[in-house]
Amino acid sequence: MRIVLLGAPGSGKGTQAKKLAAKYRIPHISTGDLLRAALAAGTPLGQQAKAAMDAGQLVSDEIVLGIIRERLRASDAKKGFILDGFPRNIAQAQSLDGMLRNLEQPLDCAVLLDVDFDVLMQRLTGRRTCENCGATYNIFTNPPRLDDQCDRCGAALRHRADDNEVTIGNRLRVYESQTKPLIDMYRTQGRLETVNGVGDEDVVLKRMLAMLEPFAKGTRKPKLPPLPAPIPVKAKPVKSVMPAKNKSLLAKSLKTHGKMPLKSPVKQAPPKKTSVKKASGKHVGKKSKPKPGHAKKKSAKAAKSTKKHKRGKRR
Ligand code: AMP
Repeated sequence: MRIVLLGAPGSGKGTQAKKLAAKYRIPHISTGDLLRAALAAGTPLGQQAKAAMDAGQLVSDEIVLGIIRERLRASDAKKGFILDGFPRNIAQAQSLDGMLRNLEQPLDCAVLLDVDFDVLMQRLTGRRTCENCGATYNIFTNPPRLDDQCDRCGAALRHRADDNEVTIGNRLRVYESQTKPLIDMYRTQGRLETVNGVGDEDVVLKRMLAMLEPFAKGTRKPKLPPLPAPIPVKAKPVKSVMPAKNKSLLAKSLKTHGKMPLKSPVKQAPPKKTSVKKASGKHVGKKSKPKPGHAKKKSAKAAKSTKKHKRGKRR
């Protein structure tokens, strides 16, 4: 099973991803968790990501793609994965398709957890996580027995640094502007499945499992993403024979004198078929007087022959 979980912050992606990962025995890969771990470990990558995370903005694609590329190469990801919080924009989704194409492991589908805005706000502001075992609570809908203490292991509960109202507002705006277009892309490609994310966690899980069952059984095959468009080859710019200023001077000169230099970009009239005998006795095409604006470009051979003709006359 290889899926991407999509949904606004607070839609329950993390909770459902953990349950699905346990059910299918595949890793739950959350870019948010990986970035928070890098930050907690004080790595340079974590420090680079910190400012964007604190502001509720997206961390650069370069950082996130680097993390994901490495994680997908790990041996436990060979049999499948649940991606949570990645991709978050179209560029990340296209890069993911490229990586999975190389690994010959296409996504089964992208699953959108659909949750109303009011429910999202309640979930985000009330969310608490255990520092020790990672258990999640919500002070409004699923409170711990003792305030700020984990029911499972007794460790302190933590309010995520980016779960304050200003940052939540930013995260929701980023979701609207960057992640929603990605949902439309998956829908257009016929790779999107939508699951109602409102209700008890286990009820939502049942909906997810019912939707994923045909993929798990192999009765439904993944739809492959379209191949990337070929990069257009830029045509070499053609060097102009002469500057525009000179071209207009030339056109004027032709009008007045009806003469044309050897190399002219101006279109020429076809030569007249009549011929005259040259001093040397050879027949050459008669030079026809060009109409203004219809001058003939002389070939090098004709030019040489004309010169000879003139020399012969002088003698
Ligand atoms: P999450 O736990 O998924 O809500 O992510 C927390 C924060 O980590 C986000 O607000 C972003 O700053 C950053 N983040 C997580 N995943 C991504 C991603 N795919 N692209 C860019 N930034 C991300």
